[in-house]
Amino acid sequence: MYYIRKRLEISASHYLKLSYDSKCSELHGHNWIIHVYCRARELNHDGMVCDFTTIKELIQDKIDHTCINNVLPFNPTAENMARWIVDTIPECYRADVQESEGNLAWYEED
Ligand SMILES: [Zn+2]
Repeated sequence: MYYIRKRLEISASHYLKLSYDSKCSELHGHNWIIHVYCRARELNHDGMVCDFTTIKELIQDKIDHTCINNVLPFNPTAENMARWIVDTIPECYRADVQESEGNLAWYEED
């Protein structure tokens, strides 16, 4: 099995729709650190698992310097964003979404 990992830094804003009172419901920003993990049993015809640039285009270029709520059709928690990344990139099996030094969520396929 071949593995790659792509690191992305994304500056953006969001707000969360929550069932309880939280300052996270107000518009605020993060500098997200995202790790995208991909794998393939066989390399493609270019000798890659997938192109690092494709990952950047599908994820960073879509949400960097946006209000993520205006771009993605779900409540943009770190957990939901991690799931979206795995669902967006066919070769991706895990995504780590770090909102701050202390707060990290990841989604990984079984
Ligand atoms: Zn936040």
